[in-house]
Amino acid sequence: MPITEVTILRRCGHCRHEFGEMTVKKDNMRLMVSELVWCEPCGAETPEIREIAGRLSSVESERASYPGNPPVLDVSAAEYRRLRERASGA
Ligand SMILES: [Zn+2]
Repeated sequence: MPITEVTILRRCGHCRHEFGEMTVKKDNMRLMVSELVWCEPCGAETPEIREIAGRLSSVESERASYPGNPPVLDVSAAEYRRLRERASGA
């Protein structure tokens, strides 16, 4: 039976903060969106990017390396801090 629905992750195009996920019919899948979304960490409206959830295996394995396997929100915060540290050259 073919897969007709895919899970899409909505993220900030700047800091990759996760806005949430949604399930769409494969036929209606739009990965390119032009709307701006309010991003809390950025404190600005940023272009939204979308990813197919099944392709995030690298993130999943990274997530598993965190002590205590924290919930998604904590991981996003840690990820955000890391990105900021990287951006500031630390
Ligand atoms: Zn952001």
